[in-house]
Amino acid sequence: MSTYLYAWNPNRWNWFDQPEAICRIGDGEQYDLYWSCGNTKKISVGDTFFLIKLGVEPKGIIGCGYVSSPPYPLLHWDEEKAKKGLTALRTDLLFKVLSETPIISIEQLQNWYPDYNWSPRASGLSVPEPIARELFTQIQGSPAFGFSIPSVNEVRLYAEGKSKTVTTKTYDRSPLARQACIEHYGHTCCVCGFNFEKAYGQLGANYIEVHHLKPVADIGEEYLIDPIEDLRPVCANCHRMLHKQRPPLLVEELLTHNPELHVPWNQSG
Ligand SMILES: [Zn+2]
Ligand SMILES: [Zn+2]
Repeated sequence: MSTYLYAWNPNRWNWFDQPEAICRIGDGEQYDLYWSCGNTKKISVGDTFFLIKLGVEPKGIIGCGYVSSPPYPLLHWDEEKAKKGLTALRTDLLFKVLSETPIISIEQLQNWYPDYNWSPRASGLSVPEPIARELFTQIQGSPAFGFSIPSVNEVRLYAEGKSKTVTTKTYDRSPLARQACIEHYGHTCCVCGFNFEKAYGQLGANYIEVHHLKPVADIGEEYLIDPIEDLRPVCANCHRMLHKQRPPLLVEELLTHNPELHVPWNQSG
């Protein structure tokens, strides 16, 4: 197993659904996203990765997880280059951890491992095994970001089983559970009462996010979701606020931050 460093520079690529991704990964859903891997063809399924944010402060490692596809060519992520028909190699990344702010700052990394280049120009640089092991163990074992480690074989089984369609969105292990949750609770946010259709008409019809009260366990385990016990429909704002902390706030805790939320939005407005 090898480890690779993937870089994200917000000045060069706008990750529009990152806030939602943070919520979904925090809920333990399977979230993978394709990411340029530079020219590195030797990356394989089950390898681990770190994602480092560069270009904009605060810089540092904001995520980690497993590579869930071999490299494949896709139209270039840079719009100018895509217009010329250029392609770039991508791999799918299955995130176990994603944070808005760095989990390990670039200053710490440079301090601990001064011989490694923490500001690479491209993604896909190999991280030496001892460094990778230390960093991974540190993130994996932290109270805020802890997760259990699937075996390489489990990641391979996951990669084989997932849809082969290329998408920037998610692979959800529980689409039926989400659907059952919405059928039971409807499309209104269970925290603040916001309803996208009431606010935006037809555009917002049938739109709502789903929050896991119990974060889903590791991908290697069978996990049965009870859509009524375990899931709740929430609007995008409330969902972000629930995931402002790790582990997420309870719905009741979020309500205490804004007493006005007890009056449903659709009645007060
Ligand atoms: Zn809400
Ligand atoms: Zn959630």
